Amino acid sequence: MTQANPNATAPLPLECEMCLKEIPASAAFTPEGSEYVGHFCGIDCYQAFLRLQREAAEKPE
Ligand SMILES: [Zn+2]
Repeated sequence: MTQANPNATAPLPLECEMCLKEIPASAAFTPEGSEYVGHFCGIDCYQAFLRLQREAAEKPE
């Protein structure tokens, strides 16, 4: 017998890709048209994330 997971019915909370804060799906900022699609708690985190990505890409190994 498998017991029903009480969490199974609730939708998983999204996590901000930048600050890893839990965000309700309705409040998630999801950029469209970008290569990487993630969820962010706001435009600030999205821009900070983009900056990190760009710096990482420019950094010579
Ligand atoms: Zn965030």
